[in-house]
Amino acid sequence: MTRSAVWHPFTQHALEPTMKRIVRTDGAYLFDEQGHAILDAISSWWVITHGHRHPLITDAICKASEIYDQIIFAEYTHEPAEELATSLIAVAPASLGHVFYSDSGSTCVEVALKMAFGFFHNRGTPRFRIVVMEYGYHGDTIGTMSAGERGVFNMAYEPMLFDVDRLPFPAPGREQDTLDAFEAFCQGGQVAALLIEPLVLGAGGMLMYPASLLAELRAIATKHGSLMIADEVMTGWGRTGTLFACEQANIAPDILCTSKGLTGGSLPLAATLCSAEIFDAHLSTDRSRTFFHSSSYTANPIACAAALANLDVWKTEPVATRIQSLVAMHGARLERFKADARFGNVRQAGTIVALDVNVPATGYLSNAGPKLRAFFKERNLLIRPLGNVIYLMTPYCVMANDLDRIYDAIDKAADMIAQGGDL
Ligand SMILES: *Cc1c(COP(=O)(O)O)cnc(C)c1O
Repeated sequence: MTRSAVWHPFTQHALEPTMKRIVRTDGAYLFDEQGHAILDAISSWWVITHGHRHPLITDAICKASEIYDQIIFAEYTHEPAEELATSLIAVAPASLGHVFYSDSGSTCVEVALKMAFGFFHNRGTPRFRIVVMEYGYHGDTIGTMSAGERGVFNMAYEPMLFDVDRLPFPAPGREQDTLDAFEAFCQGGQVAALLIEPLVLGAGGMLMYPASLLAELRAIATKHGSLMIADEVMTGWGRTGTLFACEQANIAPDILCTSKGLTGGSLPLAATLCSAEIFDAHLSTDRSRTFFHSSSYTANPIACAAALANLDVWKTEPVATRIQSLVAMHGARLERFKADARFGNVRQAGTIVALDVNVPATGYLSNAGPKLRAFFKERNLLIRPLGNVIYLMTPYCVMANDLDRIYDAIDKAADMIAQGGDL
């Protein structure tokens, strides 16, 4: 058999079995060539919110594609981008008044970092430090890799990366250490921004911390005139139970990044929302203060139309109720693992649940990861553990019996690992 020319992301092709070809998607399912229905328990890398191919969103894409394709976004504007910006500001935390478009989670965070540096530069009080949280993940471009946790993922690229200040993760009982560390970094007056994933650190292992801590970090940033960048690329669009995770801490960040669920997962699009202060620091008759950033496909009109349709779904369907019932369904099913010696750190933040399988070797390269993944795949469940951490992040349309299948498989998977390991 000839090898495919495709080089897949985060894939060791020497170890990976032949890939399944997906020929169709629908609701919570992917369908392969053999006609198997595969339950997408991780929302195709966290992007699908309501379900695959929601009819309102699919229709909007079809309609928009009849009248638009890409339109240059400097000198010209268009209705989908204008209307989407207004709509995003209406639903986002108060104090965010401007919207800058890009096309992926990584790029909207890069934009946020540049906005923060530009803000202080243009005000004539440059600041050069970025503070992040241990185990954070913000993307795979150079700037976002620099801000993310260092490890096997970025070892080869280390010479390209810049240095940032890292807060210890606020493990239960250690919250004060995190706050003290942030206070200490801010003392020097050099911190431009705190870049943080609110409530849940995703790729770092679905680590969760309380909203009260986020509120306290916000207060420290404000006290020292440092900006807060909320990376809501994963947590946005209902994942943690509220539209944005920041709402639970009752805070407004200075900059908010959104991407994955922005179009309901249908098309790539991202937005960086910022406060009037940040926009105004770039507003000048002096051209050197321009915000120097663009990408070819900025504000693609069809993607903007998909995002508007996503907002329509939120407005016209009982999405919040659906999410609340999903949260409760997970809660009830997680209960059985809480006092189970095979698992540790059983946790939930809204629609996201995670639990650690107790194994001798932990970490992302733990052998448990690929073993678990293969075990689930055999059962037509798309679940990709992060090392020994099993997590679920299903589309909101998933049914109770789908969840039962998932939880039963997790139970059996833990037995497989406990018995030493093979399928
Ligand atoms: C996925 C993710 C990103 C990067 O998004 P891409 O679209 O993959 O570039 C950034 N931040 C967080 C919190 C994410 O989960």
